[in-house]
Amino acid sequence: KGDPRLEAISAAIRVVPNFPKKGIMFQDITTLLLDHKAFKHTIDIFVDRYKDMHISVVAGVEARGFMFGPSIALAIGAKFIPLRKPGKLPGKVISESYELEYGHDRLEMHVGAVEPRERVIIIDDLVATGGTLSAAISLMESQGAEVVECACVIGLPEVKGQHKLKGKPLYVLVEPS
Ligand code: AMP
Repeated sequence: KGDPRLEAISAAIRVVPNFPKKGIMFQDITTLLLDHKAFKHTIDIFVDRYKDMHISVVAGVEARGFMFGPSIALAIGAKFIPLRKPGKLPGKVISESYELEYGHDRLEMHVGAVEPRERVIIIDDLVATGGTLSAAISLMESQGAEVVECACVIGLPEVKGQHKLKGKPLYVLVEPS
């Protein structure tokens, strides 16, 4: 807090009311990606936080975790693992279901992508209920990896996702204005 870079990041996120359906205030990070300075600040803040924490894996959640994760991974010397929606990965996968507002979805990861005891951070653009990140944590833990923290650009304040993250710390840069 008090970091002017966070103001720039907030300002670069577009809020689209009633997308993809009525009542949702959609936080659109594509406008953040268009703003070189704000995008760079976003990556820099995460890199500064994680560079000396012996992280060997950055895992990104499809699709918007893919837009931030690889830059962070390259900068801190970690590998990147995509956590994908069902049916996208060609190799042997493990999967984890999670609840959505209506129905459920699944995340998948290639078996062998992560080794036991590797230190992982999981990244997505936004945390709401924390259901998606919890599924990602379960995938990693099922392979014996250690989830050090979950990181998101945006945290919705009305939903206390932290409590659902299986006790793992959550780091968010901004809350919607
Ligand atoms: P949750 O599992 O409830 O924490 O939801 C987080 C996932 O849903 C993330 O992958 C987000 O990209 C997406 N999401 C949920 N709510 C919003 C929102 N208001 N604006 C943009 N993305 C959202």
